[in-house]
Amino acid sequence: MRYYDKLVFELSKPGRSGFSLSQEWADAPLDLDPALLRVEAPVLPEVSEVDVVRHYTNLSQMNFGVDTGFYPLGSCTMKYNPKINEEIAALPAFLGLHPLQDPETVKGARTVLDWTDRLLAEITGMKHFTFKPCAGAHGELTGLMILREYHLSRGDEGRTKVIVPDSAHGTNPASAAVCGLEIVEVKSNAAGLVDVEELKPLLGPDIAGIMMTNPNTLGLFEKDIKEIAALVHGCGGLLYYDGANMNPLLGAVRPGDMGFDIMHLNLHKTFSTPHGGGGPGSGPVGVAEHLVPFLGVSTSGFHGNFGVILRALAYILMLGKQNVHLAGRLATLNANYIKECLRDAYKLPIDSVCKHEFVFDGLIDDGACEGKAGATTLDVAKRLLDFGYHAPTIYFPLLFHQALMIEPTETESKETLDDFIAVMHKIAEEAAADPNILHAAPHNAPISRPDETTAARNPILKWENEN
Ligand SMILES: *Cc1c(COP(=O)(O)O)cnc(C)c1O
Repeated sequence: MRYYDKLVFELSKPGRSGFSLSQEWADAPLDLDPALLRVEAPVLPEVSEVDVVRHYTNLSQMNFGVDTGFYPLGSCTMKYNPKINEEIAALPAFLGLHPLQDPETVKGARTVLDWTDRLLAEITGMKHFTFKPCAGAHGELTGLMILREYHLSRGDEGRTKVIVPDSAHGTNPASAAVCGLEIVEVKSNAAGLVDVEELKPLLGPDIAGIMMTNPNTLGLFEKDIKEIAALVHGCGGLLYYDGANMNPLLGAVRPGDMGFDIMHLNLHKTFSTPHGGGGPGSGPVGVAEHLVPFLGVSTSGFHGNFGVILRALAYILMLGKQNVHLAGRLATLNANYIKECLRDAYKLPIDSVCKHEFVFDGLIDDGACEGKAGATTLDVAKRLLDFGYHAPTIYFPLLFHQALMIEPTETESKETLDDFIAVMHKIAEEAAADPNILHAAPHNAPISRPDETTAARNPILKWENEN
């Protein structure tokens, strides 16, 4: 470790100072009210200016982001976000808006909302959107409240259950539960798709609807969606579309045309807002024409995260119709390219053409032999950090024991994909030769393997003065 990689408090040397003041200034009498003066000096590290600059600069580089490297985190769509979006969202006329301003003075902002509404409606086949929800899960809750209101408005009070496939993102059953709905799980078949025969007996007068992600979290397109839509509508239920991962369908297929009644989008995934690290997000909810009267159901005030909506509008307009269409196709091509190049070294549990992402089930040769444990998915993920790559999503979806979920997005070049593929092959060779190399990874990260439970439950994120 370099000297200046230590914490800034550890760099402290008594008497060292970050500035130099000429003697005349230092000796000048101070005319300050003594009540305003400190009694004791604050406990601050005594460091030079360059120590401080290196401390903060190095700290900023310990973070990993799309701007520093390839980030194939499945289900998160960590695409590159064009900087023009940031400039537009930072325009003072938008940045300075206040939610309680006189509506007469915010006509421009209204235009932004209406315009984005029209474009998203065209992209998804929905009629209108509300922009209030501030995340995907928030959109799910809002959408399910719309679904519930719809049934109640018809006096159909017995519809208390919602069907959720076993491959669903964890937020789906969680949102349904928060909304007071009972969850009924429907199983996937061997091809990783919702099993229509398993679905049929679940349908009845107590079903409020089904929540589906298409392509699902395995990255597979639910080919039977038309039949599923007819069955669910036939029993009086509605279809909810989790559009967090709309990316591969851009310009190719519309949820509205598949038969969905309600959906949310994650503008912070598909429509290019930097995310990870907790926000800000935007999960607008769109509905088909017959549900527009229920769009007012609200789980928050005002118009959500306006800056994120603005970025989405800028992104769509900059791409234009032709390139919006290309984004989904390239995301699909990139995912299939990685999958086909790595299937000789990683187990492919479901062998079919994927959409934007796919799942491996660990290494084919994990190096396990007598007395030596094989390399796991966690080991592969940790070893990737040594090579400067963010790890894929691991141990999700729960359908496989060693899930490794890779989503490259459309913004990566073939050269970047080839580099990543080469590193994944190298890691597989290391595992086969000596899994201990992987067990001990990462070898050159500031922290190697924290106890994950303690790190999540009891994180110590700040320096404590021991004296
Ligand atoms: C990310 C994601 C969500 C949740 O979105 P948040 O903005 O994190 O709440 C829901 N469903 C799917 C399929 C997702 O990928």
